[in-house]
Amino acid sequence: MTDKIQMRTPLVEMDGDEMTRIIWQLIKEKLICPFVDLKTEYYDLGLTKREETNDQVTIDSAEATKRLGVAVKCATITPNAARVEEYNLKQMWKSPNGTIRAMLDGTVFRAPILVKGIQPVVRNWEAPITIARHAYGDIYKNTEIRVPGAGKVELVYTGADGTEIRELVHEFDGPGIAQGVHNLDASISSFARSCFKFALDTKQDLWFSTKDTISKKYDHRFKDIFAEIYEAEYAQAFEEAGIEYFYTLIDDAVARVMKARGGFIWAVKNYDGDVMSDMISSAFGSLAMMTSVLVSPTGVYEYEAAHGTVQRHYYKHLKGEETSTNSVATIFAWTGALRKRGELDELPELVEFAGRLEKATIGTIEAGEMTGDLARITTLENPRILTTEAFIDAVASRL
Ligand code: NAP
Ligand code: MG
Repeated sequence: MTDKIQMRTPLVEMDGDEMTRIIWQLIKEKLICPFVDLKTEYYDLGLTKREETNDQVTIDSAEATKRLGVAVKCATITPNAARVEEYNLKQMWKSPNGTIRAMLDGTVFRAPILVKGIQPVVRNWEAPITIARHAYGDIYKNTEIRVPGAGKVELVYTGADGTEIRELVHEFDGPGIAQGVHNLDASISSFARSCFKFALDTKQDLWFSTKDTISKKYDHRFKDIFAEIYEAEYAQAFEEAGIEYFYTLIDDAVARVMKARGGFIWAVKNYDGDVMSDMISSAFGSLAMMTSVLVSPTGVYEYEAAHGTVQRHYYKHLKGEETSTNSVATIFAWTGALRKRGELDELPELVEFAGRLEKATIGTIEAGEMTGDLARITTLENPRILTTEAFIDAVASRL
């Protein structure tokens, strides 16, 4: 074998928890390090280390990502009450993904990995549909009241100089409910720029949909900000790249998505993204075949798998039982990061390696060798169910 592929700038490596932490190690050892002289700046986001550093390690890893530009992240535990007890935590640390997303001001793009033999439920979907979900505001930062009885609910804005805007929400005759939601021009603008940038990067059309016919100020503002930024900053680049930006109503978009062949990015508001990404991922086959990348408006990238730490499998592993955990989305997080690093540093060999590793992974599954989750849904006859490690070995030997 020739010398290993060299890297110029290190990747920010964010290690994680449980089953995915084990997979992480296997991927590096068997699929990457034999071929690439891997350079990373390592941050251990495993819960033990977060506890030890009072979560400073998460903040440091996000700072490093801003500085170096490309990160790859393993799935991590978001602590809940049970985890506080299990890990004897000082406090219920916040979700690392939430912390990193807030610091990078990013948008999350989720795309399914397609392989022959795992058919989307929607027959005409031939290429991936990528969901871009705005990650700030709307009902996720709402204020609600349960209206006890007759009376009026108003929206009141008081400016810094004391000027007031007052709108009647409703004159209630009896009990009911009301809520106030908000968003920020700055956040919507970041969302728009991340979407336009990602569309250019991946050479895919961009769709954006809201309900501006009904929400004439709120949703309309999203539509206007996207249109203004597109015209001023991206229209020409889109034309040169031969891709299209188009806005349509959310209900029209849903109808079109069901009839489309795929191969585009669908940008949506926070709630729509929450709902639609689960619809898209389950209709494409499996959460374990979904990649996720956080893109900041300044062009910083963090790649990860869309699934969690697969706790149930990890506990089996701890008991010494065999596991068959799907490593595909985590492999693709690595290839996404390596490819992006290769593009930024102009290292065609690294870009090419990322492609080869993806091909070897897909080829392994298409040859009938896969983990249990895929074997259950494949249309291939007599799939061979491999253990977590045997699947990675099969990819390695193909590579
Ligand atoms: P999960 O790890 O996504 O797993 C849920 C179930 O989905 C598994 O039990 C398994 O089903 C199946 N599954 C998911 N990924 C799989 C894979 N790669 N291969 C095979 N099957 C897979 O979600 P969870 O168990 O609800 O959460 C565990 C931990 O992950 C939690 O502490 C949560 O906070 C964290 N989490 C982290 C992230 C992140 O870092 N991005 C995202 C979500 C959740 P079967 O058991 O039926 O085989
Ligand atoms: Mg959801």
